[in-house]
Amino acid sequence: MVKGPTVSLITKTENPELAVYKAALNCTSSLPIASLQASDTASRDALIQRVLASRHMSILEHASFTFGIEGVSRALSHQLVRHRHASFGQCSQRYTCFGNKEFRVPPSVAGKKEALQVFLECMDAIQQGYDVLCSLGVPQEDARYLLPNAAQTKLVMTMNARELRHFFNLRCCTRAQWEIRSLANAMLQICQAEAPALFTYAGAFCREFGTCPEGSRSCGLYQGMPQVSSVKSEENTQQYLNTKGNENESVQKERKGRASSPCLEGTPFAQGSAL
Ligand SMILES: Cc1cc2nc3c(=O)[nH]c(=O)nc-3n(C[C@H](O)[C@H](O)[C@H](O)COP(=O)(O)OP(=O)(O)OC[C@H]3O[C@@H](n4cnc5c(N)ncnc54)[C@H](O)[C@@H]3O)c2cc1C
Repeated sequence: MVKGPTVSLITKTENPELAVYKAALNCTSSLPIASLQASDTASRDALIQRVLASRHMSILEHASFTFGIEGVSRALSHQLVRHRHASFGQCSQRYTCFGNKEFRVPPSVAGKKEALQVFLECMDAIQQGYDVLCSLGVPQEDARYLLPNAAQTKLVMTMNARELRHFFNLRCCTRAQWEIRSLANAMLQICQAEAPALFTYAGAFCREFGTCPEGSRSCGLYQGMPQVSSVKSEENTQQYLNTKGNENESVQKERKGRASSPCLEGTPFAQGSAL
Protein backbone atom coordinates (compact mmCIF):
# COMPACT_ATOMS: atom_id res chain seq x y z
CA MET A 1 0.00 0.00 0.00
CA VAL A 2 1.48 3.33 -1.06
CA LYS A 3 0.82 5.84 1.73
CA GLY A 4 0.97 9.62 1.49
CA PRO A 5 3.71 11.50 3.29
CA THR A 6 3.21 11.96 7.01
CA VAL A 7 5.17 13.63 9.76
CA SER A 8 4.47 13.26 13.44
CA LEU A 9 6.13 14.36 16.63
CA ILE A 10 7.27 11.22 18.46
CA THR A 11 8.69 12.97 21.48
CA LYS A 12 10.42 16.18 22.55
CA THR A 13 12.17 17.84 25.48
CA GLU A 14 9.40 17.80 28.08
CA ASN A 15 9.24 21.58 28.43
CA PRO A 16 11.44 22.99 25.64
CA GLU A 17 10.84 26.64 26.54
CA LEU A 18 11.69 26.07 30.20
CA ALA A 19 14.89 24.22 29.21
CA VAL A 20 15.98 27.14 27.04
CA TYR A 21 14.96 29.69 29.68
CA LYS A 22 16.95 27.96 32.43
CA ALA A 23 20.00 27.51 30.22
CA ALA A 24 19.89 31.21 29.33
CA LEU A 25 19.31 32.51 32.84
CA ASN A 26 22.02 30.27 34.26
CA CYS A 27 24.58 32.16 32.16
CA THR A 28 23.97 35.38 34.07
CA SER A 29 22.77 34.23 37.48
CA SER A 30 24.77 32.89 40.41
CA LEU A 31 21.65 31.40 42.02
CA PRO A 32 21.23 27.61 42.23
CA ILE A 33 19.77 26.27 38.99
CA ALA A 34 16.76 24.78 40.80
CA SER A 35 15.72 28.28 41.88
CA LEU A 36 15.76 29.71 38.35
CA GLN A 37 12.03 29.95 37.79
CA ALA A 38 10.20 32.39 35.55
CA SER A 39 7.56 34.37 37.45
CA ASP A 40 5.20 33.94 34.50
CA THR A 41 5.13 32.81 30.89
CA ALA A 42 5.57 36.38 29.59
CA SER A 43 8.87 36.90 31.42
CA ARG A 44 10.08 33.44 30.38
CA ASP A 45 9.26 34.21 26.75
CA ALA A 46 10.83 37.68 26.98
CA LEU A 47 14.16 36.13 27.95
CA ILE A 48 13.86 33.63 25.10
CA GLN A 49 13.24 36.52 22.69
CA ARG A 50 16.36 38.27 24.01
CA VAL A 51 18.37 35.09 23.41
CA LEU A 52 17.08 35.01 19.82
CA ALA A 53 17.67 38.75 19.34
CA SER A 54 21.27 38.48 20.47
CA ARG A 55 21.81 35.30 18.38
CA HIS A 56 23.02 33.29 21.37
CA MET A 57 21.80 30.30 19.43
CA SER A 58 23.71 27.61 21.34
CA ILE A 59 21.19 28.07 24.15
CA LEU A 60 18.52 26.61 21.83
CA GLU A 61 20.42 23.34 21.65
CA HIS A 62 18.94 22.36 25.02
CA ALA A 63 15.54 21.63 23.45
CA SER A 64 15.12 18.80 21.01
CA PHE A 65 12.32 17.29 18.95
CA THR A 66 11.99 13.79 17.49
CA PHE A 67 9.88 13.28 14.36
CA GLY A 68 8.54 10.23 12.55
CA ILE A 69 8.65 10.85 8.80
CA GLU A 70 7.00 8.36 6.44
CA GLY A 71 6.02 8.01 2.81
CA VAL A 72 8.84 10.25 1.53
CA SER A 73 11.19 9.61 -1.36
CA ARG A 74 14.83 8.66 -1.13
CA ALA A 75 15.44 11.92 -3.01
CA LEU A 76 14.09 13.74 0.04
CA SER A 77 15.94 11.61 2.57
CA HIS A 78 19.19 12.22 0.71
CA GLN A 79 18.65 15.97 1.15
CA LEU A 80 17.57 15.55 4.77
CA VAL A 81 20.67 13.68 5.89
CA ARG A 82 22.86 16.56 4.70
CA HIS A 83 21.80 18.30 7.92
CA ARG A 84 24.68 17.19 10.08
CA HIS A 85 23.41 18.17 13.51
CA ALA A 86 20.37 15.94 13.18
CA SER A 87 20.22 12.30 14.28
CA PHE A 88 18.65 9.73 11.98
CA GLY A 89 17.30 6.20 11.96
CA GLN A 90 16.24 5.23 8.42
CA CYS A 91 14.44 2.08 7.33
CA SER A 92 17.07 -0.16 5.78
CA GLN A 93 16.80 -1.39 2.20
CA ARG A 94 19.14 -4.21 3.25
CA TYR A 95 16.85 -5.70 5.88
CA THR A 96 13.42 -4.94 4.41
CA CYS A 97 11.98 -6.19 1.15
CA PHE A 98 10.93 -3.49 -1.29
CA GLY A 99 7.43 -4.30 -2.55
CA ASN A 100 4.10 -3.01 -3.80
CA LYS A 101 5.65 -0.35 -6.00
CA GLU A 102 6.27 1.97 -3.07
CA PHE A 103 7.29 4.94 -5.18
CA ARG A 104 6.68 8.68 -4.77
CA VAL A 105 5.32 10.42 -7.86
CA PRO A 106 6.29 14.11 -8.19
CA PRO A 107 3.31 16.44 -8.84
CA SER A 108 4.91 17.61 -12.11
CA VAL A 109 4.70 14.00 -13.32
CA ALA A 110 1.32 13.16 -11.78
CA GLY A 111 -0.18 16.23 -13.45
CA LYS A 112 0.71 15.13 -17.01
CA LYS A 113 -1.01 12.00 -18.30
CA GLU A 114 1.75 11.08 -20.74
CA ALA A 115 4.54 11.74 -18.25
CA LEU A 116 2.73 9.72 -15.60
CA GLN A 117 2.40 6.77 -17.96
CA VAL A 118 6.13 6.78 -18.73
CA PHE A 119 6.96 7.14 -15.04
CA LEU A 120 4.69 4.28 -13.95
CA GLU A 121 5.97 1.98 -16.70
CA CYS A 122 9.54 2.56 -15.51
CA MET A 123 8.53 1.91 -11.89
CA ASP A 124 6.75 -1.30 -12.96
CA ALA A 125 9.88 -2.48 -14.76
CA ILE A 126 12.04 -1.64 -11.73
CA GLN A 127 9.75 -3.46 -9.33
CA GLN A 128 9.64 -6.51 -11.61
CA GLY A 129 13.43 -6.53 -11.99
CA TYR A 130 13.85 -6.23 -8.20
CA ASP A 131 11.42 -9.09 -7.55
CA VAL A 132 13.14 -11.33 -10.13
CA LEU A 133 16.60 -10.67 -8.66
CA CYS A 134 15.32 -11.51 -5.18
CA SER A 135 13.69 -14.71 -6.47
CA LEU A 136 17.06 -15.67 -8.03
CA GLY A 137 18.64 -15.47 -4.59
CA VAL A 138 20.27 -12.05 -4.97
CA PRO A 139 20.25 -10.51 -1.48
CA GLN A 140 18.00 -7.47 -0.93
CA GLU A 141 21.08 -5.36 -0.23
CA ASP A 142 22.18 -5.96 -3.83
CA ALA A 143 18.77 -6.08 -5.55
CA ARG A 144 18.19 -2.56 -4.19
CA TYR A 145 20.81 -1.21 -6.59
CA LEU A 146 17.92 -1.09 -9.07
CA LEU A 147 15.80 1.17 -6.88
CA PRO A 148 15.33 4.82 -7.88
CA ASN A 149 15.23 8.15 -6.02
CA ALA A 150 11.43 7.76 -6.08
CA ALA A 151 11.57 4.75 -3.73
CA GLN A 152 9.65 5.52 -0.55
CA THR A 153 11.36 5.50 2.80
CA LYS A 154 10.69 6.33 6.44
CA LEU A 155 12.90 7.87 9.08
CA VAL A 156 13.02 8.84 12.71
CA MET A 157 14.85 12.14 13.02
CA THR A 158 15.86 14.25 16.01
CA MET A 159 16.90 17.89 15.76
CA ASN A 160 17.52 20.49 18.42
CA ALA A 161 15.77 23.84 18.21
CA ARG A 162 18.84 25.62 16.82
CA GLU A 163 19.22 23.13 14.00
CA LEU A 164 15.48 23.18 13.38
CA ARG A 165 15.49 26.95 12.90
CA HIS A 166 18.43 26.64 10.50
CA PHE A 167 16.65 23.80 8.68
CA PHE A 168 13.52 25.98 8.33
CA ASN A 169 15.63 28.88 6.98
CA LEU A 170 16.91 26.65 4.17
CA ARG A 171 14.08 24.23 3.53
CA CYS A 172 10.96 26.39 3.90
CA CYS A 173 12.50 28.58 1.18
CA THR A 174 11.06 28.41 -2.35
CA ARG A 175 14.55 27.45 -3.55
CA ALA A 176 14.22 24.14 -1.71
CA GLN A 177 12.60 21.26 -3.59
CA TRP A 178 8.80 20.84 -3.25
CA GLU A 179 8.98 17.63 -1.22
CA ILE A 180 11.43 18.69 1.48
CA ARG A 181 9.74 22.13 1.54
CA SER A 182 6.39 20.49 2.30
CA LEU A 183 8.02 18.46 5.05
CA ALA A 184 9.76 21.53 6.51
CA ASN A 185 6.53 23.53 6.52
CA ALA A 186 4.66 20.70 8.27
CA MET A 187 7.44 20.40 10.87
CA LEU A 188 7.40 24.16 11.39
CA GLN A 189 3.67 24.05 12.13
CA ILE A 190 4.21 21.29 14.69
CA CYS A 191 7.07 23.19 16.34
CA GLN A 192 5.08 26.43 16.45
CA ALA A 193 2.21 24.63 18.16
CA GLU A 194 4.51 22.85 20.65
CA ALA A 195 6.91 25.69 21.52
CA PRO A 196 5.62 29.03 20.21
CA ALA A 197 8.27 31.13 21.97
CA LEU A 198 11.00 29.20 20.17
CA PHE A 199 9.40 28.99 16.74
CA THR A 200 6.74 31.65 16.14
CA TYR A 201 9.21 33.76 14.22
CA ALA A 202 11.02 30.88 12.51
CA GLY A 203 10.69 29.97 8.83
CA ALA A 204 12.34 30.59 5.47
CA PHE A 205 15.39 32.86 5.66
CA CYS A 206 13.46 35.83 4.25
CA ARG A 207 10.65 35.40 6.78
CA GLU A 208 13.13 35.58 9.61
CA PHE A 209 15.65 38.12 8.34
CA GLY A 210 13.69 40.18 5.82
CA THR A 211 16.27 39.64 3.11
CA CYS A 212 17.37 36.86 0.76
CA PRO A 213 20.86 35.38 0.35
CA GLU A 214 20.03 33.72 -2.99
CA GLY A 215 21.05 36.68 -5.16
CA SER A 216 19.89 36.40 -8.78
CA ARG A 217 18.20 33.09 -7.95
CA SER A 218 15.95 34.73 -5.37
CA CYS A 219 12.22 34.25 -5.89
CA GLY A 220 11.85 37.91 -4.92
CA LEU A 221 9.20 37.20 -2.31
CA TYR A 222 11.21 38.90 0.40
CA GLN A 223 10.76 42.28 -1.27
CA GLY A 224 7.10 42.46 -0.38
CA MET A 225 7.39 40.50 2.80
CA PRO A 226 7.02 42.09 6.21
CA GLN A 227 9.82 40.91 8.44
CA VAL A 228 8.25 38.92 11.22
CA SER A 229 11.52 38.16 12.92
CA SER A 230 11.99 38.98 16.55
CA VAL A 231 15.70 38.38 16.29
CA LYS A 232 16.96 41.71 14.97
CA SER A 233 16.90 44.10 17.84
CA GLU A 234 15.86 45.01 21.35
CA GLU A 235 13.20 47.16 19.72
CA ASN A 236 11.68 44.04 18.25
CA THR A 237 11.86 42.34 21.62
CA GLN A 238 9.92 45.23 23.08
CA GLN A 239 7.43 45.03 20.22
CA TYR A 240 7.02 41.33 20.91
CA LEU A 241 6.31 42.03 24.57
CA ASN A 242 3.84 44.78 23.70
CA THR A 243 1.88 42.47 21.41
CA LYS A 244 2.07 39.57 23.85
CA GLY A 245 -1.58 39.96 24.81
CA ASN A 246 -2.54 39.60 21.16
CA GLU A 247 -0.20 36.74 20.49
CA ASN A 248 -2.86 34.37 19.25
CA GLU A 249 -4.13 36.98 16.83
CA SER A 250 -0.68 37.83 15.52
CA VAL A 251 0.29 34.17 15.19
CA GLN A 252 -2.92 33.55 13.26
CA LYS A 253 -2.23 36.56 11.05
CA GLU A 254 1.24 35.28 10.28
CA ARG A 255 -0.09 31.81 9.52
CA LYS A 256 -2.63 33.34 7.11
CA GLY A 257 0.23 35.14 5.37
CA ARG A 258 2.12 31.89 5.12
CA ALA A 259 -0.88 30.02 3.75
CA SER A 260 -1.06 32.36 0.78
CA SER A 261 2.67 32.12 0.18
CA PRO A 262 4.12 30.07 -2.71
CA CYS A 263 6.54 28.69 -0.08
CA LEU A 264 3.74 26.34 0.86
CA GLU A 265 3.22 24.86 -2.59
CA GLY A 266 3.78 21.14 -2.92
CA THR A 267 2.24 17.97 -1.64
CA PRO A 268 0.85 18.55 1.84
CA PHE A 269 2.14 16.39 4.64
CA ALA A 270 -0.44 14.77 6.84
CA GLN A 271 0.39 15.31 10.48
CA GLY A 272 0.32 12.10 12.45
CA SER A 273 -0.85 11.95 16.01
CA ALA A 274 1.06 14.20 18.37
CA LEU A 275 2.73 12.96 21.55
C1 LIG B 1 18.24 25.21 -2.24
C2 LIG B 1 19.34 24.24 -1.92
C3 LIG B 1 20.11 23.74 -2.93
C4 LIG B 1 21.16 22.85 -2.67
N1 LIG B 1 21.92 22.35 -3.68
C5 LIG B 1 22.94 21.52 -3.41
C6 LIG B 1 23.77 21.01 -4.45
O1 LIG B 1 23.58 21.30 -5.62
N2 LIG B 1 24.79 20.14 -4.11
C7 LIG B 1 25.04 19.80 -2.82
O2 LIG B 1 25.98 19.05 -2.57
N3 LIG B 1 24.27 20.26 -1.82
C8 LIG B 1 23.23 21.10 -2.08
N4 LIG B 1 22.46 21.56 -1.05
C9 LIG B 1 22.74 21.11 0.32
C10 LIG B 1 23.57 22.17 1.10
O3 LIG B 1 24.81 22.39 0.47
C11 LIG B 1 23.79 21.71 2.53
O4 LIG B 1 24.54 20.51 2.55
C12 LIG B 1 22.50 21.45 3.29
O5 LIG B 1 21.57 22.46 3.02
C13 LIG B 1 22.80 21.43 4.78
O6 LIG B 1 23.07 22.75 5.18
P1 LIG B 1 24.15 23.16 6.24
O7 LIG B 1 25.45 22.55 5.91
O8 LIG B 1 24.10 24.65 6.43
O9 LIG B 1 23.44 22.60 7.52
P2 LIG B 1 23.81 21.60 8.68
O10 LIG B 1 24.59 20.43 8.27
O11 LIG B 1 22.46 21.36 9.21
O12 LIG B 1 24.71 22.45 9.63
C14 LIG B 1 24.20 23.62 10.28
C15 LIG B 1 25.33 24.63 10.41
O13 LIG B 1 26.33 24.09 11.25
C16 LIG B 1 27.60 24.52 10.80
N5 LIG B 1 28.39 23.34 10.42
C17 LIG B 1 27.95 22.08 10.26
N6 LIG B 1 28.95 21.26 9.95
C18 LIG B 1 30.07 22.02 9.88
C19 LIG B 1 31.41 21.75 9.57
N7 LIG B 1 31.86 20.55 9.28
N8 LIG B 1 32.28 22.77 9.60
C20 LIG B 1 31.88 24.02 9.89
N9 LIG B 1 30.60 24.36 10.18
C21 LIG B 1 29.71 23.37 10.18
C22 LIG B 1 27.36 25.45 9.61
O14 LIG B 1 27.26 26.77 10.08
C23 LIG B 1 26.02 24.98 9.11
O15 LIG B 1 25.32 25.97 8.37
C24 LIG B 1 21.41 22.44 -1.32
C25 LIG B 1 20.61 22.97 -0.29
C26 LIG B 1 19.59 23.85 -0.58
C27 LIG B 1 18.74 24.39 0.56
